[in-house]
Amino acid sequence: MPRTSKKGAPDSKSVSTNSASFTGGVKAAKPSGDAVASSLTRATDSTDDSLQFVTPAVRERLARLGIFRLADLVLHLPLRYEDETTLVAIADAVSGTSVQVEGKVVETKVEFRPRRQLVCRIEDDSGTLTMRFFNFYPSQQRALATGARVRLIGEIRQGFFGAEMIHPRFRTLRVEVPLPDALTPVYPTTAGLSQDSLRKLVARALRDTDLSETLPEPIRQQIGLEPFVDAVRLLHQPPQQVDAVSLQERTHSAWQRLKFDELLAQQLSMRLHYQRRSRQRAPVLRSHSGLPRQLAESLPFGLTGAQLRTLDEIRGDLARPHPMQRLLQGDVGSGKTIVAALSALQAIESGYQVAVMAPTEILAEQHYRKFAHWLVPLGIEVAWLSGSVRKKERDEALEQLASGNTTLAIGTHALFQEQVVFRNLGLAIIDEQHRFGVRQRLMLRMKGAAKNAQPHQLMMSATPIPRTLAMSFYADLDVSVIDELPPGRTPVVTKLVADSRRDEVLARVRDACASGRQAYWVCPLIEESEALQLQTAMDTYERLQREFSELKIGLVHGRMRSAEKAAVMDAFQSGTVQLLVATTVIEVGVDVPNASLMVIEHAERMGLSQLHQLRGRVGRGAQSSACILLYQSPLSELARERLRIIYENSDGFEVARLDLKLRGPGEILGARQSGVPMLRFADLESDIKLLETARSVAADLVASHPDLVECHLTRWLGGRQEYLRV
Ligand code: ADP
Ligand code: MG
Repeated sequence: MPRTSKKGAPDSKSVSTNSASFTGGVKAAKPSGDAVASSLTRATDSTDDSLQFVTPAVRERLARLGIFRLADLVLHLPLRYEDETTLVAIADAVSGTSVQVEGKVVETKVEFRPRRQLVCRIEDDSGTLTMRFFNFYPSQQRALATGARVRLIGEIRQGFFGAEMIHPRFRTLRVEVPLPDALTPVYPTTAGLSQDSLRKLVARALRDTDLSETLPEPIRQQIGLEPFVDAVRLLHQPPQQVDAVSLQERTHSAWQRLKFDELLAQQLSMRLHYQRRSRQRAPVLRSHSGLPRQLAESLPFGLTGAQLRTLDEIRGDLARPHPMQRLLQGDVGSGKTIVAALSALQAIESGYQVAVMAPTEILAEQHYRKFAHWLVPLGIEVAWLSGSVRKKERDEALEQLASGNTTLAIGTHALFQEQVVFRNLGLAIIDEQHRFGVRQRLMLRMKGAAKNAQPHQLMMSATPIPRTLAMSFYADLDVSVIDELPPGRTPVVTKLVADSRRDEVLARVRDACASGRQAYWVCPLIEESEALQLQTAMDTYERLQREFSELKIGLVHGRMRSAEKAAVMDAFQSGTVQLLVATTVIEVGVDVPNASLMVIEHAERMGLSQLHQLRGRVGRGAQSSACILLYQSPLSELARERLRIIYENSDGFEVARLDLKLRGPGEILGARQSGVPMLRFADLESDIKLLETARSVAADLVASHPDLVECHLTRWLGGRQEYLRV
């Protein structure tokens, strides 16, 4: 079969069936690679970017890697590089290091003790070495027949019988095969797709796809990046003299170029997205300042400087004829709700309706209560819509909304169901926006305002978004930050307490409640089973009732009917209930200033932002507050790190930044990521400089090089561009 391997190994015969090169351990063998190799020789139209020339099976495997076009292969960059350029004499190989050796098979046999394994002894001029395989194919056993020449690569160690390699990657050589003169790329792959097949596909892609430059020459030179074509060639086929360390560590200038391009693609798509939206129409909601002023004057407190500033930003947006897309960020307790209410009044005053959406019943209910408390005295009708509102009341509320009699609707997901029709929705306020998917928010926007216009959107989040995330994944939103807490708050003292010292914690709860304050007891999160979580909550509730016979204790969990939930929350709010046992349903938004103590059981199971949110439920009044994190030993490395972070940091932004470092952006972005391409190469922490540059270059390109923008986005996002249109 006419194989063509660039590194000149025309006669090497692979041991496993799938590759002319090293096999990825003995186990990966499936004959599919040959299909790729042979189909590659059937040259097809070279301007075609599709992968029609490979078999459907291979196409399916490539798809699993996110490769749908020839061009995608160019950006399928090596995970790492293997140094196959030198051979080490067996006797010189240092134990514990990865080396390449070559020798002749002196014996191959299957042993059964301690377990079935293929044992093959080879020798070179300096000594002997044993290879062991616990999974192997008969073909591999045959290939390793006595007398065969093999070249193998793997970690060497000193076993009982001398030098050993367990599952080395190897190939047999029928004739002298020169060593490659450059590093060998190792690609991310999937079962049934060999490295060799990938290398050949990539080589073809480098030859046949458009690698033209997408940066204007002056800009490229000014920011000091190398040409795209040079960078990808180098990364896929590193020349002999390349600096191996910077290549491996991805600090090489070629990597810089690729990371930059990736960030640039993200910036460009966000920017276009933003532009597209800002060309749409929205009702102009002018500030007459009558109602907002009335509300502000009725408050028992004055707004903080940060609240006033963010409110100004929002008001400015609302008065423009294009839909606002603003994210209002502020740590827990920073006072976002009143800013939202004042914004709502501006819309209402202009004759438009407002929808306020929250992710949980408890939170929506609480918003309802607050908004009603603030707005009903001003003569504004507030409707409450959740999944659990009874049909009759619901129908009534719907009618009022459709007729426009009700100007403000508050609810959960129920708000964007089909039956909900607004007469003229002017502003949608979405609390804890990261809990909602892109699509859900879109649906609310579809509820439309006047003809051909979209409502303005105000999103709120208490999960602070680190600056780098805001600059990248949230670049399509305008952001306002409340960076100041209302005065008179006392910081929450966080304590880490091992579960074995539970008694001391019980005593503290008793003391706090005895002195007229209130406490939360948060039950452990049990991710695997909601039923089990519920059970645990019930058990905890009963146990604590026995423990504190003198206290009035309440229980809330996600499975209660909302009327029951509301009754318990009411009782806690008014102080009738002193200790509230709760599942993590109280994580967001709940606001009871007299509660000054929180106990979180099995804190080690919770994520950082969750802990921070929970902790934010206390420290809302003037008295000193504490949050006790009960944990069960032993702690995993990650859990220990999380608890350390939450213990040492009270600033939500810092917690979020460290969380980002710990987990990467994927999980923090939550629902949002469904519409946003993730970063494969760039890292938001370490590539912040590149990100900043990409941001300003993106602005330039969009303004003056639309053709290059198109070309760049096609290269990087291909079919996924559509997704961003939402
Ligand atoms: P969050 O930003 O977490 O949603 P809230 O809007 O629930 O915070 O506000 C937390 C508490 O602070 C509420 O009781 C609210 O009435 C109060 N609050 C808001 N703004 C101020 C202010 N400027 N001064 C004093 N208290 C305020
Ligand atoms: Mg809130």
